[in-house]
Amino acid sequence: MKLRRIKLSGFKSFVDATTVELPSQLVGIVGPNGCGKSNVVDALRWVLGESSARQLRGDSMLDVIFNGSQARAPVSRAQVELRFDNSAGRALGPFAGYAEIAVKRELGRDGTSQYSINQTRCRRRDVADLFLGTGLGPRAYAIIEQGMISRIIEARPEDMRAFLEEASGVSRYKERRRETELR
Ligand code: ATP
Ligand code: MG
Repeated sequence: MKLRRIKLSGFKSFVDATTVELPSQLVGIVGPNGCGKSNVVDALRWVLGESSARQLRGDSMLDVIFNGSQARAPVSRAQVELRFDNSAGRALGPFAGYAEIAVKRELGRDGTSQYSINQTRCRRRDVADLFLGTGLGPRAYAIIEQGMISRIIEARPEDMRAFLEEASGVSRYKERRRETELR
């Protein structure tokens, strides 16, 4: 699956609807300090299910909603949609047959929260399940942030094993087994 587009609205500094196109294998996002580059990565993690506000550089999850600037009033809702190209048919699970997969997360200031895949409302764990074993997840290795390489090098054996299991796709089957054992 290839991430082709990120659509943001009301998310952090992206108060107006903004589309980030990722048309090729290598895309660089450049701009002055504070222009919102890291916010794009936060948006990606957020849709993938990040539940810790601190990991998104905030104090509360509501901090992802645009909270106003000198020129603009705060908004009441944050929405981010990721659009994946699945024409190679790599996705597993109920969305395997779709050429495009759109994953969306929304949050209102009143705390109402919603995830959807291809416009169908779903749970956070359905989003996690779609990406489990692909290396893409809120804390998986597809997103390499500052300090992560040294964290991997210095990882405890159990943590190193978790990385390898995700890279090999084993984590998906381990999770299935765990669920079966819990039933
Ligand atoms: P650097 O080059 O310094 O890493 P950057 O381009 O990565 O900068 P970001 O950290 O993505 O910048 O963006 C920071 C900006 O986002 C700040 O100006 C901050 O005020 C703004 N911001 C973050 N959260 C919100 C929010 N909820 N509402 C409005 N603005 C926000
Ligand atoms: Mg940054």
